[in-house]
Amino acid sequence: MAQLPSLLGFDHEQLAAALTELGEQKGYRVTQLQEWIWKKRVTSFEQMTNLPPSLREQLASRYSIMPLELVEQHRSQSGSATCKFLSRLLLDDELIESVIIPAAVGEDGDHSKRVTLCVSSQVGCAFGCRFCASGLLGLRRSLTTAELIGQIFAAEYLMGQRVDNLVFMGMGEPLANADNLLPALRLITAPSFLSIGGRHITISTSGHVPGLARLATCGIPVRLAVSLHGATDDVRSRIMPVNRKWPLSELLPALDSWRRSSKHIITLEYILISGVNDAPQQAEQLSDIARRLHAKINLIPYNTVEGLPWKRPEEADCRRFCRELIHNGIPCTLRYEKGHDINAACGQLRRHRINSSAKSDKISR
Ligand code: SF4
Repeated sequence: MAQLPSLLGFDHEQLAAALTELGEQKGYRVTQLQEWIWKKRVTSFEQMTNLPPSLREQLASRYSIMPLELVEQHRSQSGSATCKFLSRLLLDDELIESVIIPAAVGEDGDHSKRVTLCVSSQVGCAFGCRFCASGLLGLRRSLTTAELIGQIFAAEYLMGQRVDNLVFMGMGEPLANADNLLPALRLITAPSFLSIGGRHITISTSGHVPGLARLATCGIPVRLAVSLHGATDDVRSRIMPVNRKWPLSELLPALDSWRRSSKHIITLEYILISGVNDAPQQAEQLSDIARRLHAKINLIPYNTVEGLPWKRPEEADCRRFCRELIHNGIPCTLRYEKGHDINAACGQLRRHRINSSAKSDKISR
């Protein structure tokens, strides 16, 4: 049977219209339906016990709730408790992955941090960054609004905890899917839906200039991270083809105007790749960009991806690069990605799964 439309993509007006179409006259039903889905997080219409059985049946015959199902999960053994899960999209059986970074328990036993979910925005990615597993398989399609939100619900079922921090840094370029991302952000931030504040949501872009303008004018005060990974057009274009379309001469003014309108500090993500972007001269050029944008920098030593030639620099070289930025007055952190042992770099788990199905296909033939 074809997948029925998921109500996770419906706002208040759309839910009201769906109920009206089913002949439901009572205005308060929409609030009841909304509360079952968004506050109580039920996954079937049968559980909505204050709705008449006939209405539950009608809803179930026309709509679904979860647009995806869990296929596998991997928990990091490294002490970070990071959990990566692979989901199957019910619409067409495509696979996506998401990563949960649980609340950290401090040495004093204090739960000091939030539960963070790294959300995928597309199946695969068209942007083809040379160091990235997601880009290797190309773009299959963008996720629907319901599929973006479904990852949050799935993470909560998996962990038995509410997610309260979101980073759109998984597979895909979120701003290339602005048509579905912006409605999802409205539902995620709305008090009667998920009610997660904009300051707990980070959108990460590889430098999609038109998408930045759309995000800036949508009125949702999210945070912005930019995957820069190179401080000159030469280096950037070598590892990020997006730079040929929107070079630094277009990207930096767009970021300048984002900073002025949002008043938020931009984070520049910079994956350190040995012999590509880790030279002292690049640290100087990166400092100039960060100074211009009043941005802070996250340095991330490269996570090796099977089948790709890039290497992580020595730890001493990463520390030297970081020291040079700090010496130049740039706020900078050097962080080794959590979940290295579970293929947590974006696209790796899906790629492993696809590769192993391909191998077993070959064996069985
Ligand atoms: S790094 Fe991001 S934008 Fe680049 S190919 Fe990977 S998923 Fe796409």
